[in-house]
Amino acid sequence: MRFQLSIKRDKIFINVRTHAISITLNTFTVLTFDKEGRLIWAYLDGYTFRRSFDNRVIEKYRGSENGQRYRIRKELDEKEKRIFLDNVYSGIRLIYEAIKKGEGNINFPHNVSSNYIEEVEKALSKVLTLNYDKLEKEKRKFLSIYKPVSILPPDQYLTLVLQVTEGCWWNRCTFCDFYRDRKFKVKNDEEIIKHIKEVREFLGEGIWLRKSIFLADANALAIPEERFLKVLDIVNQEFPIISEDLEGPDLSKWKSEHPLHFSGIYSFLDGFIGGRRSTEYYRELKRRNLKRVYVGLESGSNKLLNFLQKPNNAEEALEVVRTIKEAGINVGVIVMIGIGGEDYFEEHVKETVKVINSMRLGKGDFIYLSEFVGHPELEYSIDASKLEIKALSQDRIVEQIDSIRRGLDFTDPENPPKITIYDIMEFIY
Ligand code: SF4
Repeated sequence: MRFQLSIKRDKIFINVRTHAISITLNTFTVLTFDKEGRLIWAYLDGYTFRRSFDNRVIEKYRGSENGQRYRIRKELDEKEKRIFLDNVYSGIRLIYEAIKKGEGNINFPHNVSSNYIEEVEKALSKVLTLNYDKLEKEKRKFLSIYKPVSILPPDQYLTLVLQVTEGCWWNRCTFCDFYRDRKFKVKNDEEIIKHIKEVREFLGEGIWLRKSIFLADANALAIPEERFLKVLDIVNQEFPIISEDLEGPDLSKWKSEHPLHFSGIYSFLDGFIGGRRSTEYYRELKRRNLKRVYVGLESGSNKLLNFLQKPNNAEEALEVVRTIKEAGINVGVIVMIGIGGEDYFEEHVKETVKVINSMRLGKGDFIYLSEFVGHPELEYSIDASKLEIKALSQDRIVEQIDSIRRGLDFTDPENPPKITIYDIMEFIY
């Protein structure tokens, strides 16, 4: 299956970095492993694969039919996954043996030190400690440390998740069943410290492929203020996180002392709890390296938010975003596309554009346009079917995205926020 290796014929390029190992074959295949040898990402001749800690593999590629290009993404079934991972890991064994024997067309980056081949051998031997069965065993270990990581913003797929809370305090939005399997729980200090210790042990050197720290689950910022400040203190004590206060020589010194570090702390927040916090409180969070907060606006239409049973209205979400931004923290605003179907199409576009345009978003902020993904048992689907709400066709989804994009207008057009599609079907951790 799509990964065959011929040591004599293939040109193999190996790059071992501080946080990852990359292997390129003939430029058509790239495999990336973390420093514990876990396959994280692969590109095989037009197909992209991402592997999660719970050993799921998502495949993505572009297809075409009747001259139309479209994207396919699907999770490999058990059989496909085993074949894929067996092929990858047995390919690495061939490469490792070829290096040992001094055979094959193997290349390394320029200007590497004389012991680089030893480093490569060491890194590959780490990869070879794993195989399909061991990755399945790791999955069980992962699930004993974490509740399933249900969702993250797309710019945080390579984050280090710390579940300082579990679940969602509200858990009633009709379109969301991410956390219906668990009760909301705020962990105490001992539990957080234990969780961090277990996460570190599990990830080993692989931790350095993670760029940031994400406090999960749905709404870690719902933790009462004093407690949350303490949580941030614990996280800052446990991990080197770059502070925005550092500049010039101080920043260079800090970086030389912490060559491996995290970019900041990130988390979701709902518009109800978020609105009960002051700018000064958010400034305290910023001082503790909270860099971006993700707020699920979903829609600017109160009628639609009410129908979806969101805990807040659009004005509250707007106020939260303004308060957070006033404190100097960036935001990621999530808008749901297609929700409310044809019945809400016009109002959803009009009110969402109005609210976002009042948020004063700029550089460092994100707007995520996330297509609603449902299933027949979802409360929203049942409500929509009772009211005979017509779902949007794929063309109308595109039209809604375009209409929202066209309506957006930013105070500083030179430094706009980043607008991006948020495809939750691609998510794995
Ligand atoms: S507040 Fe967020 S996580 Fe909680 S139920 Fe609503 S959408 Fe889901």
